[in-house]
Amino acid sequence: MDAAKNSIPQKWHPAFEAYKERMESGLQYGGAVLLLVTVSLYHLSHTHFHVHQANLGTTELLLRLPLVGATFLALIAHWTGYPRWPARYFLRLMGITLSGLALALLYLFTLYEPIMVTQVSDAMTIAFFGATVMALRSLREWILIVLIPVSVFWLAAIIKGLPLVTLVAVFIGPALIMFVTCMLMAFVRKVAVDGFISREKLHEIATTDPLTGLLNRRAFMPLVRQEYARATRSDSVFSVILADLDKFKKVNDTWGHEAGDLVLLETATRLGSCLRQQDALCRWGGEEFLILLPDTDAEGAMIVAEKCRRQMADRAIDIHGVDHTQTLSLGAAEHRTSEGIDPLIIRADEALYWAKEHGRNRAHLSGSN
Ligand code: GH3
Ligand code: MG
Ligand code: MG
Repeated sequence: MDAAKNSIPQKWHPAFEAYKERMESGLQYGGAVLLLVTVSLYHLSHTHFHVHQANLGTTELLLRLPLVGATFLALIAHWTGYPRWPARYFLRLMGITLSGLALALLYLFTLYEPIMVTQVSDAMTIAFFGATVMALRSLREWILIVLIPVSVFWLAAIIKGLPLVTLVAVFIGPALIMFVTCMLMAFVRKVAVDGFISREKLHEIATTDPLTGLLNRRAFMPLVRQEYARATRSDSVFSVILADLDKFKKVNDTWGHEAGDLVLLETATRLGSCLRQQDALCRWGGEEFLILLPDTDAEGAMIVAEKCRRQMADRAIDIHGVDHTQTLSLGAAEHRTSEGIDPLIIRADEALYWAKEHGRNRAHLSGSN
């Protein structure tokens, strides 16, 4: 999925990281439970039903401990939130200890109980299947979790002079399953990435205005409600400004709708340049814009409104080679204690109406006339 990041627009990267983290957290918990059950069953079956030629029981138990430790750590983190690592660290730990266990058992059996070596094959199949699933994030994780431990094993086998032909035979089944699982995980990654992109696109369509790229009304209102709740709780103020282009119909009538759209787009850019990071700007309607100014009183709101007005009035917009000065009227309102959101916006609208009535190209504060 790391590679898939290239196909995802930059602005969605943080959301994509959070999405991956959620998927991997689920895998961390589910994987840990499954591993704990599997490793316990294997331990029982090996200690009670298989006759060992050499007494390898204690060694086997010791080899299982790192995996059991890793799964417990993953479960503790899931339940308590500590240690606060990203899920992929737990997946790595479980994956590496799982591969390590399977390979160590194979190594041990080849050295001390060659007769039972083929029995390790099905355990390895399950182990490599599990480890490959845990490398959900990317091929790079799989190299770390599976390929490096396997390479170390082969190096040790060659150095120790183990029977390589027998080992190759044992590896065929697990390698096949691993190949299939790699394909499966690539498919899961693709489905997950496609699903993420579609969801974000839908969200974008639902929350932004396609012409200006600004928030639409539906996306803006929750921000106002949030600021309203914050201001009410902390006994602070906030303000809103409603802005409306002056004589905008004339632009459409003179130069056409496309030119009108261009003016709207330019207005959105200029208004955005007047605001701070925490302020929010939305396309409220056709040629109306609503601005939310958190933690801002009437005086501050009027400074912003005046700045916005000048941004439009002081610099003409080039429409098909003709300089057009598009002015703007604005109505500002500071939130009053115990006043609802709708009455606040109505007051901003009334202030805007006042500005229109008194000559346009001006900003007016609600309650100041
Ligand atoms: P006033 O100064 O009183 O606000 O005059 P006005 O002409 O701006 O006001 P009015 O509300 O009568 O006209 C708004 C116009 O905005 C009408 C409509 O054609 C235009 N408009 C609304 N949405 C769009 C849009 O998305 N693109 C374009 N090009 N024009 C739009
Ligand atoms: Mg207008
Ligand atoms: Mg209007």
